Amino acid sequence: MALPSDLPVIDHHCHLSPHGEGVEAARRFRSAGGTHLFLATQNYGPGTPRSVDDYREQYETTERLARRLGDESGVTAYVVLAPYPVDLVDGAAQMGAARALELHQAALDLAGAWIQERRAVALGEVGWPHFAVPPEVARIGSAAFRHALGVAHDVDCPVVVHSPDLDPAAYRDLAVEADRAGIPRHRIVKHYARQRVRDGASSGIVPSYLARRQLVTEVRDDPGPWFLETDFLDDPRRPGAVLDLATVPRRARSIAQTDGGTERLRVPFVRSVERVYGWTPRTDGKAGP
Ligand SMILES: [Zn+2]
Repeated sequence: MALPSDLPVIDHHCHLSPHGEGVEAARRFRSAGGTHLFLATQNYGPGTPRSVDDYREQYETTERLARRLGDESGVTAYVVLAPYPVDLVDGAAQMGAARALELHQAALDLAGAWIQERRAVALGEVGWPHFAVPPEVARIGSAAFRHALGVAHDVDCPVVVHSPDLDPAAYRDLAVEADRAGIPRHRIVKHYARQRVRDGASSGIVPSYLARRQLVTEVRDDPGPWFLETDFLDDPRRPGAVLDLATVPRRARSIAQTDGGTERLRVPFVRSVERVYGWTPRTDGKAGP
């Protein structure tokens, strides 16, 4: 069944690399029926960034890729920027905790400035490593996350959170942090959510679900807001480490075949974007959100 042409089909979190498949992956996404990607930055070099200029270069690479996707594959890519929380692990080992935190905060400030200039749509991914870290790194990690929330508050943008799996208590803690920072809870997205969160169990934080078949079947009737994502890594050294970029459009097609399927799809692809980001994704091929 064909997807309606006025329906955006959106992967809410992926990475693409100029050293990986890049535009080719986006073409595959497009031919499966995908239209929009939220493209999160990543380290493209072999090492962790050591200076703000390294981060600027990284952001520029993401921005360039996003533009190429539009020009060469017809997929609209929204840029999401922040220093990766895991960078603090290497950073602290190489330059000491204080200096690593300083750099991280400067990179967050730079991302905030880009968002203000509308070169990116959200701050992300921010949060904390998904594995155990030394206490000193945990300490600067928390400080960095608070700084990130401060930046998001100042520039008034959504926040995409990288973290281990969250249970209801952890969602509540995150919601309390959002409240403290003065950020509406529905502007905070927990990316890579691997379990359905039912009525209120996420305390108003928005899940971006990994688009596994079973999980999609469980959540597809939920009123939202929620998103679907692959967290595609585009890393030739780790093929199949995550879901393929064509997955979300494939899932969208199968939902479209259910009763009221098209209406259901408007939840993750239209209404949730409106709620979290404050604008409607364009499907007329014009530039801008
Ligand atoms: Zn990611």
